[in-house]
Amino acid sequence: MIAPQATETRHWRFHTDLEKIGWLTIDTPGASVNTLSREAIMELETLVARFEDLASSDELAGVVILSGKDSGFIAGADVSEFDAMSDFSVLPEALRRTHALFARIESLPVPVVAGIHGFCLGGGLELALACHYRIAVNDEKTRIGFPEVNLGIFPGFGGTGRSIRQAGPVDAMGIMLTGKMLRAGAARGLNLVDKLVRHRDQLRWEGRKAVLTRKKSSEAPAVKKAAALPLVREAIANQMRKQAGKKARKEHYPAPYALIDLFEKHGNDWRAMIRGEVDAFVPLMGSSTATNLRRVFFLSEGLKKQGLKGAKFSRVHVIGAGVMGGDIAAWCAYRGMEVTLQDLDMERIKPALDRAKKLFQKRYKKKREVDAAMLRLTADPKGTGVARADVIIEAVVEKLEVKQKIFSGIEEQLKPGAILATNTSSIELERIAEALQDPARLIGLHFFNPVAQLPLVEVIRSSFNSDEEIGKGASFALAIGKSPVVVKSAPGFLVNRVLMPYMLGAVERVEKGESKELLDAAAVAFGMPMGPIELMDTVGLDVGKSVATELGHDVPADSKFARLIAEGKLGRKTGEGFYKWEKGKAQKAETPSHPDLAGLGKELVKPLVDMTEVVVSEGVVASPEQADIGVIMGTGFAPFLGGPMKARADGRA
Ligand code: NAD
Repeated sequence: MIAPQATETRHWRFHTDLEKIGWLTIDTPGASVNTLSREAIMELETLVARFEDLASSDELAGVVILSGKDSGFIAGADVSEFDAMSDFSVLPEALRRTHALFARIESLPVPVVAGIHGFCLGGGLELALACHYRIAVNDEKTRIGFPEVNLGIFPGFGGTGRSIRQAGPVDAMGIMLTGKMLRAGAARGLNLVDKLVRHRDQLRWEGRKAVLTRKKSSEAPAVKKAAALPLVREAIANQMRKQAGKKARKEHYPAPYALIDLFEKHGNDWRAMIRGEVDAFVPLMGSSTATNLRRVFFLSEGLKKQGLKGAKFSRVHVIGAGVMGGDIAAWCAYRGMEVTLQDLDMERIKPALDRAKKLFQKRYKKKREVDAAMLRLTADPKGTGVARADVIIEAVVEKLEVKQKIFSGIEEQLKPGAILATNTSSIELERIAEALQDPARLIGLHFFNPVAQLPLVEVIRSSFNSDEEIGKGASFALAIGKSPVVVKSAPGFLVNRVLMPYMLGAVERVEKGESKELLDAAAVAFGMPMGPIELMDTVGLDVGKSVATELGHDVPADSKFARLIAEGKLGRKTGEGFYKWEKGKAQKAETPSHPDLAGLGKELVKPLVDMTEVVVSEGVVASPEQADIGVIMGTGFAPFLGGPMKARADGRA
């Protein structure tokens, strides 16, 4: 018997125990999540050489890989290294080196077991797939998947071939193409994981057992692999291209298409798929799409670093149970807050509670979770919740006097330090705040409709506010899972201000006789998620007109736009606007052909980009970067272009 031994590296801890089991723990220094940085990979090379030595002298029964972090196993490769890694002179070599390392792990004569809790994503999952056996904790926190496609790439550490080997081609391609994160049970169902345990504490015991019994995962059954046989594979690849085409264009997002090409070439031979990976991967990593998507990723991560340290919220009071107030209240209850919802009477609150129940039923799997969320949301026509609330959000009708009256009526009752916020779209905060004894208390929290779907909250700063109030507002937005962008109180704030000239510009062209289908198709060809006319119908023509008027745009009474509103044709919500709507879909005529659809789209989007420049130059947002991420989150502006300011700087908008 040999004595227990320890090896110290920066990212890994390794020791063997009396049963000759090697315990390898990843613990990225100075970070809350583990990543597979280059340094971590190089250290792992040294460790694997040691495993080989120990195994050849019969001193190693097997290795169990665990994480030392509460957040999870490994969140992926280190994205902050990707820009430097995109260089053609380093990337292929670095990828091949990691491929060789993972192949050595796979070839070790002793079992290597991954014990997974929390996040096991991207490169982390690729390492786990190179192990012989995978055990995962079956709880709410475990997430297993390949999010690479969201960064404009696909798995590059052998994950393409190994996921196909384990899950079969259709399921493996499905998770790689969508970036979907699976829960432990679903990952087990796809054979990406071999065993589930209830608690993280059980990973060591089960890992030990798996080593001592020399457990080895089995490959996907032949019936699943059949989808990669020649001829069938070609048909399946075409089907995948069709599916991918519904979500993203090849010229905007090349990665899914490159992955499908790779599958079409090698999908029946997982080793060949891994060999082909490097050549297909390298051009993607340095592409403008991937570079911009990485920038968007870091900008959105940056939003999460805002806010006030230690700010805690548990009770929210919402005044106004209409479209916005009702949905804001439901969202806050969904995210775990205790919520009281006030309106003039119970009848006006009831529809909001019904909508909330639908949201909970859609988002939660279990009835008891729905019931618990319903218990967190209380109708409060008398406003008794005000005095206990940590956050008060007003979302009543857009009338200055009504809002002022509400705020002056509740100011005395507020808890010290509670956030006092309005969801106004267009009224200057300073004017609403005039009604308060302490006008510095009022901030804006501007949500977007539909609240449950749109991630952005504009945190509106009036000239009275201090950093503390704004910091608290940002913290609250983060606490309910939204992304805050701080914007000065100026008409239209950021998103409505930049959207309006774009939407109205398109409406004007339709008024002059251009095809709405053509204009919408052109904006989509440019990279917008939806065309401007369809967007106007979705927002509601009445809402669009009132924002337009607030921002000083003219809507002539004899225009088609005004006529539609007068006829009650308000868009999607009434079944007709510029388009007729059926089952939530705009009924479009055939799109006329155009020699340069994307060029026309660029022309249509120009007013949006111009206005973003104005907003930045006026200091309404803190930086061009904040404008970019705000406009991407608030309007869906082409993420592959990196946002309007970046696209303009690159000459692409
Ligand atoms: P809405 O008309 O659907 O709802 C307003 C609600 O306020 C009604 O239920 C009404 O009964 C209630 N109300 C009126 N006076 C009240 C009072 N004194 N006390 C309590 N409740 C009272 O309006 P909405 O579309 O939800 O808009 C609400 C606010 O949100 C407005 O300031 C609007 O500018 C802003 N907003 C709207 C949108 C949107 O897309 N609809 C988007 C962002 C912000």
